[in-house]
Amino acid sequence: MKPVARTALRPWLALLALLFLGCSGAPEDRQDVVIFLIDTLRADRTGPYGRFPSPTPSLDGFAAESIVFEQAYAPAPWTLPSAVSLMTSQPLCEHRVAVDGETVAPEVVTLAERMAEGGRRTGSFISNPYAGATSGLDRGFDTAKLVQGTTGDRLAPWLDDVGGRAFFLYAHNISPHDPYNGARGVPKERKVEVNELFDRFRHLGREDWLAGRPLGTTRNEVAQDALRVEIEARADAIGRLYEADIQRADRQLESVVEELRRRGRFDDAIFIVLSDHGEALGEHQEWQHDQSLHEEVIRVPMLIRLPGAEHAGLRISEPVSLLDVAPTLAELLGEPALAENARGRSLVPWIEGRAVAGGEARVVSTRWNRKKHYEPAAARRGNLNVAIREGSWKAIWNAGPDTLELYDLARDPRELRDRSGEEIERAQRLAALAREHAAPCLDASPEAPSVPELDESVRERLRELGYLDP
Ligand SMILES: [Zn+2]
Repeated sequence: MKPVARTALRPWLALLALLFLGCSGAPEDRQDVVIFLIDTLRADRTGPYGRFPSPTPSLDGFAAESIVFEQAYAPAPWTLPSAVSLMTSQPLCEHRVAVDGETVAPEVVTLAERMAEGGRRTGSFISNPYAGATSGLDRGFDTAKLVQGTTGDRLAPWLDDVGGRAFFLYAHNISPHDPYNGARGVPKERKVEVNELFDRFRHLGREDWLAGRPLGTTRNEVAQDALRVEIEARADAIGRLYEADIQRADRQLESVVEELRRRGRFDDAIFIVLSDHGEALGEHQEWQHDQSLHEEVIRVPMLIRLPGAEHAGLRISEPVSLLDVAPTLAELLGEPALAENARGRSLVPWIEGRAVAGGEARVVSTRWNRKKHYEPAAARRGNLNVAIREGSWKAIWNAGPDTLELYDLARDPRELRDRSGEEIERAQRLAALAREHAAPCLDASPEAPSVPELDESVRERLRELGYLDP
């Protein structure tokens, strides 16, 4: 495929660009690229993925001009490893940034570094520290800021500074992540209560990590069970609080789109909206988002708007992953350097309708837990899990007990009936693939878990998000 920059420009626009080049500050022959990540956004809670009535009018409008990937996966079930996978196109067991204090290896070149080498200005505006200096993901950004809210006016000063040069913008919105901020119809004291319950629940899970003990040393499953019952009793309020914060994220997306549109920088950009993971809302007796690789935790929105809204409305059902973002950008932009060492694959063949492959077994997500201990999930699954898609099948392999769960998502989208006992050949084959994928994690003997030293402003932000205790 020819780079989008050339195919999307209408001839008269190209002529105008030529006439004004060099005297108007028009962008050089590089495409603007935006990644807008909405943290903790499970796909099925958004309009483009079937939620009705839709809480995401802006995303719905955006989807109408975009390519919608119906089965997109987060490469890991929480922010730190997932954001690193997005920016390196490496799966967790390869980049091995799995727990606080671990950072992207110096020899790994990130997407932002490649974008900067390609001549773009690079800006990172994040509301979750795990996607920044904490994990080494500030590398390659000429501006990297921790912000409260990713809105158009927060980005405006940087965009002023960028002027006519091409840019790569990474905005990491955290609105749907707890603590919840507000919802009409939910009393304030109920909101406070839910946020406190979630904090206590998270704290119980990481008691050992905080104390530097092996996970599972502290037996607090009775307290975890009791808290789960309390949380379950408030499921309705939690659902409404979560949705209200999705609406807030949707408004912030709209404000960024408007800011770019106002500057004439929206229509010709490649603009991607996605999430780093979903959120369990009681399915499989789980809450929050790092205890399993079930669909509610790893199925995320992924939408790509091409310049001029090319291929608007196209929906692609092939299972894809955040790892595919960098190689897809490389092909769209005609900049192969962006895909150097990428483990994902370009999605352009699917976009152009010329993909002949598809349906083969593919690892879509990995969980390597070294921080939290939640029973009964821990007893059932251990701390290293690999999710694989093959056609409509989804496998979850569990390293500790060496078990494989197999679900047919076409008939059983909620993953309730394990079919591994009936599909023995498939189960064995997928387990072998999972073992091979997980080998670098299995071979690693990581240091004992410890809480790293962090900058006070980062600690403060992590505390607000419930990741650290006061
Ligand atoms: Zn996250």
